[in-house]
This record gives sequence, structure tokens and C-alpha cells, in this order.
Amino acid sequence: SFRALVTDKGADGKVASGITELDEGRLPQGNVMVGIDWAGFNYKDGMALSGIGGLVRDYPHVGGVDFAGRVIESTDERYHPGQAVVLTGWRVGEWHWGGFATRARVNADWLVPLPKEMSTRDAMVLGTAGLTAMLAVNRLKSEEIKPGDGDILVTGAGGGVGSMAVLLLARLGYKVHAMTGRAELTDELKALGATEVVGRDVLAPTGKKLLATRWIGAIDSVGGAPLGEMLKQIHTGGCVAAVGLAAGDGWDASVIPFILRGITLAGIDSVMQPFEARMAAWDRLSTLFGFGVYERMVREAGLGDLVEISKDILAGKVRGRVIVSPKG
Ligand code: NAP
Repeated sequence: SFRALVTDKGADGKVASGITELDEGRLPQGNVMVGIDWAGFNYKDGMALSGIGGLVRDYPHVGGVDFAGRVIESTDERYHPGQAVVLTGWRVGEWHWGGFATRARVNADWLVPLPKEMSTRDAMVLGTAGLTAMLAVNRLKSEEIKPGDGDILVTGAGGGVGSMAVLLLARLGYKVHAMTGRAELTDELKALGATEVVGRDVLAPTGKKLLATRWIGAIDSVGGAPLGEMLKQIHTGGCVAAVGLAAGDGWDASVIPFILRGITLAGIDSVMQPFEARMAAWDRLSTLFGFGVYERMVREAGLGDLVEISKDILAGKVRGRVIVSPKG
């Protein structure tokens, strides 16, 4: 049997979660069984455990959109018992049972073999947040945004994706302005490599169509009205990588910054990335990321802590990354 945090929906439409021992026969179909060492906790997990956003299709459900562990059995020739693997996205933890359990059964196509230098814990310190931040950084690079070109704004910098984006950009030599609503995180963000820490007021509503320019690029976790204000302050030829919606999914838009300054708004989707792109991102992360400096942004949790943490993450109170030991 295995241990899992099972989320179920009551007749009243409300969801509730509890730790349960389940028979392996209850695992969904798939050709690889994984023993999970660590799962990650993401904004999306907070939504799923709170029953919002319509992410989960069927109940009872096991959440957890990313996990890392070792293969227990596989009928797919690419994977063998004992092999270290990581999984992020593919709607696992939404449509398919995920990482908040000691075991998962998944489709081999969704897995990525862990780079040799990386432990399963390292992989979940990064998790979906690290992969997404890496993809966003790569996108700015492919839009020809280079370190000497100007400052880069990272929003939601105290959160998972934001804090990782700050670290990765700094390591590549970019000057990073980290935007946070939590001034108390200033020292942490500077330690990750931010050159400046700014408040959310830099993206406060103005009612104007264009503002003086300030950044050549941005990685945006918050979306909503702040994204609209950001676009008005991007230098000519700059690019914003849109990642998240912590502040909402819509804003009062205008084409003015696009047609007067030739800026680009680039969407980042980590969930459906093909295998080659994932492998390349994980390999790059294994050499570029600074696990030592990031450790102060990591909190370890057990399955029993997750309902509480889901409320915190939706309220924007989680700092950095929460990693989950399913045995704990
Ligand atoms: P997170 O750890 O909760 O980070 C979000 C951060 O946004 C918060 O820590 C907070 O940072 C800031 N924030 C929250 N509410 C805000 C508001 N109303 N106005 C301005 N800032 C606010 O979440 P995450 O896991 O990093 O994910 C961040 C976002 O990206 C989520 O929307 C998530 O769904 C999305 N995401 C998308 C992908 C993709 O593939 N596109 C992948 C991963 C995540 P401060 O307190 O420092 O301001």
C-alpha cells in the first residue's frame, strides 16, 4: 500500500483532503511506477486543494503537479528500476493523480531522467517554478534581450517562479529589479542577485497609455492590471515573458506600447513542453542554478501541512519554494 493526501468533493460541492493508505491497485493507469521522494507545492496546487479554478476533473483526487523520485517498475524501455526521474506538468495533479503520495503511476512520456548532478530534492526545490523561470529566461534571450541592454523586472519576486527568475537572471549577468509586496524580503532577494528591490507601487494604476520607459524586459508572475502598467514602461524592442496570474488574468489593454515601441509580450507554458525542451532546461538548471544560495528560500513540509499552505499560497504569503516529503 502507499500513503497519499486524497482530496474529495462532498455533496455540498466543497473539497476536503485527508491522509489515507491506499492499495496500489488504486493508482491510475500508466507504464511507469515511481516511488516519490519529494513533491513541490505550486500556486496551482493551492488552487486544486482549495477546489478553485476547475483544475481537477475527477474525485477522489491526489494532487501535486510536480514530483521527483526513483522508478520502481517500468514496462517502458527508456526507464529502469532505481532510475531517478522528475515530472512536471502534463496535467498531472489535475487530470491525473500527482505527487502528494509515496507512489505515482504515470505515462513514461511525461518523465524526464534527472541530470546526474541533481538530487531528487534539488529537482523539487526547482520544480515547475524552476523550469518555468528557465523557460522564461530562455525566451528573453531568444528575443535578443542581452545583459547590457537594460534592467529586467521580475514581479512576484518573493514567490516560487519570481525568486528563481531573479537568481537565474542574476547568474547570467542581467541587472534585475525584483518587485515584491513584502519589503521584509529585501535581503533575501538581494542575496539571490537582485540589483534593486522595488515595491508593487512601480506598477500602480496610472490611467495613461504610455509611460517613461524603465525596463528592457520582464518576467511576470502576476498578470492582471500590473501587467498592463508594466507594458507601458518597457523600452523600445523589449520583451515581457508572461508566466502567471497571481493578480488576475485580465487588464485594460492598448496596442500603443506595441506599435510605438515594438515591444513583445511572450507567453510561457511549462505544462505542455516537449521532451527535448524539458531535457535542455533541466540540464541548464543543473549547472546554472545556485542551490546553496537558494536554500534560505526553501521550506520542507509534510502531507498534513498542505491544506494550510494552500491558503497561504493563494494569499501570496509563501516565500520561495515549499517542498513536500510524502512520508512526512
Ligand atoms: P507563488 O509562489 O505564490 O508566487 C506568486 C507571487 O506573486 C507571490 O508570492 C507574491 O509575491 C505575488 N503576488 C501575489 N498576489 C499578488 C497581487 N495581488 N499583486 C501583485 N503581486 C502578487 O506562485 P508560483 O508558484 O511562483 O506561481 C506564480 C504564478 O505563475 C501563478 O499564477 C502560477 O499559476 C503561474 N505559473 C505559471 C506557469 C506556466 O507554465 N505558465 C508555471 C508555474 C506557475 P510578492 O509578495 O513578492 O509580491
